[in-house]
Amino acid sequence: MSQHTTSTDVDVAVIGGGAFGTSIAFHLARDTDLSVRVIERFGVSEGTTWHSAGMVGQLRSKDPIMQVIRHSAALYASLEEGTPGLLDFRRVGSLRIATTPIRVAEMTEQVAQARALGIDAEMIAPDRIAEIVPTLDTDQILAACWIASDGYVDPEQLAVGLAQRAVELGAQISTGTTVTALTRTDEGHWVIETDGGTVTAAQVVLAGGMHTTVLARQAGAFVPLLCSRQQLIYSNPIDPEVAGYPTVREPDESMIMRASGDRLVVGSYVEDPEFDVVDDVPVTARYLFEPEFDRMIPAWDACVRRFPVLAEVGVDRVIKGPEGVTPDGEIIMAPAGPEGLWIAAGGSGHGIASAGGVGWVMSTWLATGTPPIDVTDFALDRFPASFETDPEAMLAETRLHEIGRYALVTE
Ligand SMILES: Cc1cc2nc3c(=O)[nH]c(=O)nc-3n(C[C@H](O)[C@H](O)[C@H](O)COP(=O)(O)OP(=O)(O)OC[C@H]3O[C@@H](n4cnc5c(N)ncnc54)[C@H](O)[C@@H]3O)c2cc1C
Repeated sequence: MSQHTTSTDVDVAVIGGGAFGTSIAFHLARDTDLSVRVIERFGVSEGTTWHSAGMVGQLRSKDPIMQVIRHSAALYASLEEGTPGLLDFRRVGSLRIATTPIRVAEMTEQVAQARALGIDAEMIAPDRIAEIVPTLDTDQILAACWIASDGYVDPEQLAVGLAQRAVELGAQISTGTTVTALTRTDEGHWVIETDGGTVTAAQVVLAGGMHTTVLARQAGAFVPLLCSRQQLIYSNPIDPEVAGYPTVREPDESMIMRASGDRLVVGSYVEDPEFDVVDDVPVTARYLFEPEFDRMIPAWDACVRRFPVLAEVGVDRVIKGPEGVTPDGEIIMAPAGPEGLWIAAGGSGHGIASAGGVGWVMSTWLATGTPPIDVTDFALDRFPASFETDPEAMLAETRLHEIGRYALVTE
């Protein structure tokens, strides 16, 4: 039965039409009786989501986030199979390369952990890598983790496709509508003021990407997020066949790679990450920072070593985009203090991979009062309240985790 009463316009208002918000709306519309409206100030996907690398990799060091991403990978594959092109998800598999014995040991443990959750991860030897991608130079590779059900998605299409399905299933999506104030009434519902009028809802989910920190402030809550500047290099065209290459991660070189049409896209977690206070980032659709290729040279060189053809075709363009990150590098899915207020934000570099699972967890939790998995890792109160008054401490913690992203978990 719908919780919707005549006292509110909708049961759930979701603020933000990125990967998280559209997935939550899709799951609510498909799996529950709750009515939902997404409120998005630009177009769907035009915050961080559109310029993401879109890699969907299930191997993580903790079970709950692997369960979240396992749900995403299965969902994206099934929606894509039902309607080819809906999300533009390519289930090309992923390779995570190990070049040191200690990295092999770490991966072997993670593979066992992933397999226990039903993920099709396996350790493979260099000759098998060469069979999967003959153009990959296997020099110094000791082993790799291969997951056939991983892949990559066109991130813009992911949000657009999920929004389209959500609307077909009864969700409402208001684009070009900015939320300006959030208030909880004495009757216990939420009043969401926008530049296009007022919406009332029993529950509100803040899925505003990094701007969730601003929205939460309006609602009387603190959500610790910073903007991390992240870059991607697009190569010049190589060959349409590269579209079928698996995604590649080489943690010891902090290099990630996936195809985009007939090009390769190279990303990295740099040693000197750049952060901005969210309030300082310009608020415009599809905002990008000025790119800096030099900061990406180590990752580009690492990718050229694996795919020497890159040296021949060279770089087409570099983009530097904003991403909302939490101090410990894990997403937030949690109630936020004032009753009926929820947070789904802080993609922290894996928001596309997580989005499908975020929709599943949040919709189940909103509809039944109980999350379907252990959500301790995603709680808002895992962060000290002192971060609100000590931004330097929050920055230091965030920097530590961003630099340590590919540090050995066995270290
Ligand atoms: C260069 C780069 C590469 C990446 N690569 C990967 C990858 O390979 N794999 C992966 O899993 N992740 C990756 N990520 C991370 C991933 O893209 C993000 O975590 C994800 O897109 C975040 O989605 P979101 O819905 O939380 O936020 P957003 O996409 O930012 O959506 C939030 C929305 O809320 C709206 N909003 C905010 N405030 C308001 C308001 N007041 N009123 C109305 N609307 C509002 C915004 O306009 C925006 O559209 C990458 C990120 C970057 C920058």
